[in-house]
Amino acid sequence: MTQNPGQIKISSQHLEMMRNHAETDYPQECCGLLLGHLVGNQKEVVKAIATRNSWNATEAAAFAEVTGKPPRDEHQDSNFSIAPEEMLQVQKQARAENLEIVGIYHSHPDGEAKPSEFDGAIAWPIYSYLIVSVRTGKAETVLSWVLDEERQFQAENIIID
Ligand SMILES: [Zn+2]
Repeated sequence: MTQNPGQIKISSQHLEMMRNHAETDYPQECCGLLLGHLVGNQKEVVKAIATRNSWNATEAAAFAEVTGKPPRDEHQDSNFSIAPEEMLQVQKQARAENLEIVGIYHSHPDGEAKPSEFDGAIAWPIYSYLIVSVRTGKAETVLSWVLDEERQFQAENIIID
């Protein structure tokens, strides 16, 4: 059973900000949070916040222990992680402004704008996962993904406002 595909509305300025962030942090993976409104599976981004990528050897080891397999490689640029305290801080800020976290963006340096196995393992339902493909330092495709009931990523329409 396929559900009605959702969509995420985002301004060209916010898209540009994510692309710039992805280019600045290249060849490392960048990440950030998207704040806005969620009605059913229709999202609207009001604010984009760049966060620090806290992925490190400790996280890589913890991930390997939980999944029973080593992460793709131990370099920081292979994955992303947002520190819980930073996540909490943004959640507080969102609540104060009557917004909620609707999505998470990150980059794939020299990779496709498609979720990796790691992305699927750490993803939360509801959130949109926007991925920016960066090739040799230049941001290219941006795609959005959402988990379905079977925890499989489905492409989501991006409506540029
Ligand atoms: Zn990824």
